[in-house]
This record gives sequence, C-alpha cells and structure tokens, in this order.
Amino acid sequence: MTDAGLREAAALDAADPLREFRARFAIPRAAHGGEAIYFCGHSLGPQPLAAAARVRDLLDDWAMLGVRGHVEGTRPWLPYHEPFAAPLARLVGAEPAEVVAMNSLTVNLHLMLVSFYRPTAARHRILLERHAFPSDRYALASQVRFHGYDPASALLELAPREGETGLRTEDVLATLDRERERLALVLLPGVQYLSGQVLDVAAITAAARRAGVPVGWDLAHAVGNVPLRLHDWDADFAVWCSYKYLCGGPGAVAGCFVHARHAQATDLPRFAGWWGHEVATRFRMGPEFVPTPGADGWQLSNGPVLAMAPLAAALEVYDAAGMARIRAKSLALGAHARRRLTERLGARVAVLTPPGEAAGAQLSLRLPSGRDAARAAFERLTAAGVIGDWREPDVIRLAPAPLWNTYTEVARAVDTLADAIHE
Ligand SMILES: *Cc1c(COP(=O)(O)O)cnc(C)c1O
Repeated sequence: MTDAGLREAAALDAADPLREFRARFAIPRAAHGGEAIYFCGHSLGPQPLAAAARVRDLLDDWAMLGVRGHVEGTRPWLPYHEPFAAPLARLVGAEPAEVVAMNSLTVNLHLMLVSFYRPTAARHRILLERHAFPSDRYALASQVRFHGYDPASALLELAPREGETGLRTEDVLATLDRERERLALVLLPGVQYLSGQVLDVAAITAAARRAGVPVGWDLAHAVGNVPLRLHDWDADFAVWCSYKYLCGGPGAVAGCFVHARHAQATDLPRFAGWWGHEVATRFRMGPEFVPTPGADGWQLSNGPVLAMAPLAAALEVYDAAGMARIRAKSLALGAHARRRLTERLGARVAVLTPPGEAAGAQLSLRLPSGRDAARAAFERLTAAGVIGDWREPDVIRLAPAPLWNTYTEVARAVDTLADAIHE
C-alpha cells in the first residue's frame, strides 16, 4: 500500500504545474543534515533565493552612494515602497492605491483601530473570536481601555459550538444582527491560526456593512494562502504580516489595506507621520499634516528598506505562480494528505481543520490519545525532519505549501507521523 501511495504521489509531482517553483527557495535543513520536509510556512516561510541579491544591492548602494541612495541607485529608497503596491493588490484583490507595505502587523492593526474603532458609550463593542491570536486581542483590549471602556464588556467573543472546532458563518451573522446597535467594530481572521479554518470573509463583511458596523480583517494566515477579493467584498480595512506564507523573512515588513471608500476621507482620525504626508509637498516640511490619498496616507516613517527587500523577491515568485494555481495545488495537497492520514492512521489522529474550500494549506492535528502522546509524536516528527509546529495546548500544525512542497513529501510526512505515533 505504501509503495502504491508513493507512486501515486510521484505521478502527481511529475504532473504538477508548479513543480519548478521549489527551486526558487532555500529549503531549510533538518537535524539529520538533509533537506527538511518544511511544513512551516504558516509560521515562517522559507527564503526566496532571489532575496539575497535584493539585500546585497541595497547594501552596495548604501556603501557607494550614501545619502544619494534615496534617489539614485538600483532601487531608490525614497519611493521604495511603491512597487510593492501592484503585486500586493493582486494578492489581496485590491486596487494598488488601497494597499501599502509598512510596519508590522500589530502596528498596522493599531493604526487601523485608531481610524476605524470610534466607540461611543452606546456603541463600543468589538466582535472578535474567542481564540483570536493573542496579539490581536491585546491590541483590541488596549484600544478599548485607551478609549475609557472595559474590555470585559466591550470584547464580544465568538466561539465554535460545543464539540465543534470551527466558527459557523450563520452564528457570526446571528451575533452581528443581535448586537448591531452596540457594535463599533468587527475584527476577525481570514484564516484562523489554530484550526486553519477559512472564514467566509465575503458574507461576514457584507453583513457587517449592511449593519453599518466597520469591519476589518487580520489576514496573517490568509495572504498568499487563499484567494482574496477585499475591494469587491468591501471590507473597511485589513492587515497582514509577510513572514508566513509570503516568505518575506523574519520580521518582514507587513501589509495594510484601506478600502478606496476611505481614500479621500481626510476626516478619519489617524496617527500621522511624515511619510503619510502628501508626496508633492512632503519635503516642504510644513507644520500641518496633509495625508496622501489611499493606504499610503497611513505610513508613518521612511521605509525600512533592508527589511522590505526580501519581500520584493518573494512577491515576484507569488506573481509568477498566481493565486489561482497556488490555491488549486493547495487544495490538492490537502486532499492528498487527508486521504493518506485516513489510510495510515484512521481514528488515531483527528484533523481539526475543516476539509476542502473551508481550509487553507494548514492541517491542524490532535491525537485522541492525549496531549502527552501528541507532544511526544511531534518531537519525533521534528527529529525525523518533518518541520511543523506545536501550539498549546495540544495541536500539531503542518502546512504543506504549494510553492515548495511536493506530494511525495506529504506522503512521506504522513508515514513518518504514523511511525512517530506507533513508537
Ligand atoms: C502571526 C500573526 C500575527 C503577528 O503579528 P506581528 O505583529 O507581525 O508579529 C498577528 N495576528 C495573527 C492572527 C497572526 O497569525
């Protein structure tokens, strides 16, 4: 059975339209010295090989040109963020003026909350999920306190139903409807980080818009993973980091979307900095802040170009592959992994991630034999060169990613997991 499965995987690899893309990445090494089966793109994507030259060029320009590098050289630093807009817009389904590469995710979230969380005594609640990524919850709670309200009553947390692992869209919509008079914001993840569930961004955004509640999305696990159409879906804002599936490197410069509806809305409050100032007059150094239209108007500082360079290399790879092909292979890899898990492990592993279109590249696994058994299996898996990660209390996350993983790796990883559980 194993050999037939591996033969099938090899055939799928041979027919894979994205098979050339693996060679564009440095595949991390395992403890045994060889290439790891790297299933950790949901945490830190591997390095695009073209990143080094991008960084090198900047260092060379800095060495040779000094301050002139702002306006001269391979890629002048002053407008360095500008070429990011088009490929980022393609990734999230936006107009180029609606997106900007800047800061880190949590910083961008705070900047967006300053503009879009406008609480009043009657209406200051935020709809989020019970298992929100901690940083999001910290940001939201601190903003609530900043405005003088109490997070205990202001944060309205949605949880999956008893015995279920995913949120139901109908439950989100029912809560939105019930709380519409008290809600000042909806902030949810495009893909839930622990379970890998894809939320119905379109339906939830439409319902929030109908209810007159501003709606923002944390796309940390969605960008580069699932197709998005933020402009058409009509979200107010979105934020994401670039170091997960996007492969922008550790601490890479993050992204931010502000819908074109707000492009000229200069009455939105915002925390301003000189890089958000109208470009034509920025260097007059005047005392009054005049925001540049679009998402660029939320920039604070001149860009950390060394941290942006690897992202430029990564976006070229994503552009060449295209989200449609990426998603198609992601679904096929996921289905392949699930079939093999069922064949090899049956009921000895539980997949928390919903199947098919309701999931991204990630598979979150729990062992019915309990936390300690799962933790031991996870450590054996890592030692054998299958790199996923562990999330407390008892979840193994593995993300077979379409650009650098193969069907053969998926089959091998399942076999390794089966061995790890039997030991
Ligand atoms: C990874 C992740 C973050 C990380 O934010 P940074 O500020 O860029 O470190 C935030 N939110 C979610 C949902 C994440 O998955």
